[in-house]
Amino acid sequence: MDGTSQAEQAIQYLQSALQKDGYATSLQTFSYYSYDEDDQVDGVNVLAVKPGASPREIVVAAHYDSVDDVDGADDNASGVAVLLSAAARLKDVQTPSTIRFVSFGAEENDLDGPRYFVGHLGSQEKKNVVALLNLDSLIAGDKTYAYGEGGSGSLRDWIGAAAAGRHPDGSQRPPGPGLLRRPAVRLRRFRPVPRRRHPVRLLRGHGLGIRQR
Ligand SMILES: [Zn+2]
Repeated sequence: MDGTSQAEQAIQYLQSALQKDGYATSLQTFSYYSYDEDDQVDGVNVLAVKPGASPREIVVAAHYDSVDDVDGADDNASGVAVLLSAAARLKDVQTPSTIRFVSFGAEENDLDGPRYFVGHLGSQEKKNVVALLNLDSLIAGDKTYAYGEGGSGSLRDWIGAAAAGRHPDGSQRPPGPGLLRRPAVRLRRFRPVPRRRHPVRLLRGHGLGIRQR
């Protein structure tokens, strides 16, 4: 939870892991109303950018906070681990798009961290973002869920095609990365998330991303 020594440790771990891989990190600090604390609390998003050949940008995100009654290793140390691993592997790879790695605080508190991040993107920054891949709860269960808008060329359908071992153009290609090599991938349509009080249960699993149950 934000404001605790555990949150502080998580932020320091994220920074040192990214810096060890050669990234400059920045912190986005915000104040939000915590339902658990019934008070104002400071939250922190941790950011690192890998420049690409163009300003076109892919955001790779994972929240590092958790809630008491869930398995934090799944939700969401697993997403953070994939984010850090992807950052390490991509550091020296030439990519067409810029990749921004964002670790959210206060996601489990009505998406306050993600909302702050999106709310503080400039209009040009928003235009540059072509996709956001949200990594959440990747360990537990036996199915992988990919949420997102469907249709030709969509990231969601690309993930489904990669998991089925074919390219979205219909040609056969080797299966995608190990993460996608699961017994089954279910595709779900993205639904906009309404703002609610105490929404944690309702919100979990929504958004564009890969979710495994
Ligand atoms: Zn989560």
